[in-house]
Amino acid sequence: MIAFFPKLYPNELLYSILARYHARSGYARYVSTAEDIYKSGKITHPSIEFVNKYTADVMSWLTKEAPWEAIAEKHTMYPAYIRFLPLKRRKEAEEGVRNQDGNWKNLMCLPILNEKRYLRYCPECAKEDREKYGETYWHREHQIPRIRICPKHKTHFENSTIPIASKSTPGLFDAQSNVPEINITRQCENEREIDFTRYVLDVFNSPIDLKTDFNIGTYLQSHISPEYKNKSGLRTDISKFYADYIAFYNGIPTMPQSYMQKIFNGYIFDTYFVLQLAFFEGVSVSQITNTPTTTNTTNLGGLYSHLSEKYNVEYSVVENIATEILNHTQHKISNISGPQRIEYDKLDTDLLPKVKSFVDKMANGQGRPERITVTKIQRLMGLPQKCFKKLPQCKAYIVSRTESQIEYWARQVEWAVKEIDSNNKLLSLSKIMKLTHMRKSDIISCSPFINDSEIKDTISELLKIQT
Ligand SMILES: [Zn+2]
Repeated sequence: MIAFFPKLYPNELLYSILARYHARSGYARYVSTAEDIYKSGKITHPSIEFVNKYTADVMSWLTKEAPWEAIAEKHTMYPAYIRFLPLKRRKEAEEGVRNQDGNWKNLMCLPILNEKRYLRYCPECAKEDREKYGETYWHREHQIPRIRICPKHKTHFENSTIPIASKSTPGLFDAQSNVPEINITRQCENEREIDFTRYVLDVFNSPIDLKTDFNIGTYLQSHISPEYKNKSGLRTDISKFYADYIAFYNGIPTMPQSYMQKIFNGYIFDTYFVLQLAFFEGVSVSQITNTPTTTNTTNLGGLYSHLSEKYNVEYSVVENIATEILNHTQHKISNISGPQRIEYDKLDTDLLPKVKSFVDKMANGQGRPERITVTKIQRLMGLPQKCFKKLPQCKAYIVSRTESQIEYWARQVEWAVKEIDSNNKLLSLSKIMKLTHMRKSDIISCSPFINDSEIKDTISELLKIQT
């Protein structure tokens, strides 16, 4: 029986409270404490970032003030790795980590870092903890990968000597004994880094949404500023966007452009870099933590899960193979071929009045007539090829105004007659033919379609004279 158990501090890692318990237990060796707290006893490798299976005794102490779900969410690192996953995968990862069940590690988006990770601390936070509580503890926020500073104190984190990797010797090392009392701190002068880190922590401390299915790539694409779009709004100048992103995060770790495109296309859900894009795009904390449902067009999480189950292959293996294939076909996944249905719908509505007025002007214009076709409108309006395939309202209007060849000829004849008349020249069939590049047989076949009755009669007279 555990006779006493410490209380959790704000934002304390679950590992930290167990290490504090060990420090106070009076046990000289880790294995004795392990027997008390872990279901599998002394063979347990304590998880620093996540959870282990605990004894009923520990569970009842831990859940005295809040349910287990809340403790796991507020006192482990998993919210840093699952927030932007597709819904099914997000839920499976959350449930897996909480119950220590299934291949939850493979479901998460764990960053690949080139450095060995250690438990970290902010010297100023440690000082404050010691003044307030008489001891310091391992803070969750200080362990978020790629975050380097404490925005509250504008100081750089320091590494302890406790490695985070699970391969290290099992043990429970409390912060109070392992965080030195140092007076020298490394200050951060980069205001952008301070602001961005504050943003990351605000998101990190917000509840994880386990109900809404959103596609974070689509969402981020929809927030790209119009300044990076071409006139039609369909194409993104991704190189310019990337150059500005790099300049914005000057002095802060950034991602390669190919990685950014994978986030936009919904293949990668790396929390830190997703948040870099969101912050750069001006998306607020409340917006990014309340992402609306989006159409699941390029979201492959569900497919990966399905294939993983069907062929009994690990999720990460399916994902790795798919990523390799996608890398080869990356050129086909252009900057605009991503999930942009929402944008197309909006564009379709926005563009419709312009298309109508353009087509009407073409049909009733004073100059030389041009035949109305979908392709011609697309070209004259300077829009991308085949764009009307994705803009159904605009296309329907153009189709309703398109002309047959004969109708178009009739309009040409009307124009030619007016043109010759306005130049006070004598009207003749040969002059009309020369102006319109039409043959006599063309004029004969289109004459019933001439709208202006006076011109229609004139043409019929001219044809009689000629025959
Ligand atoms: Zn601090």
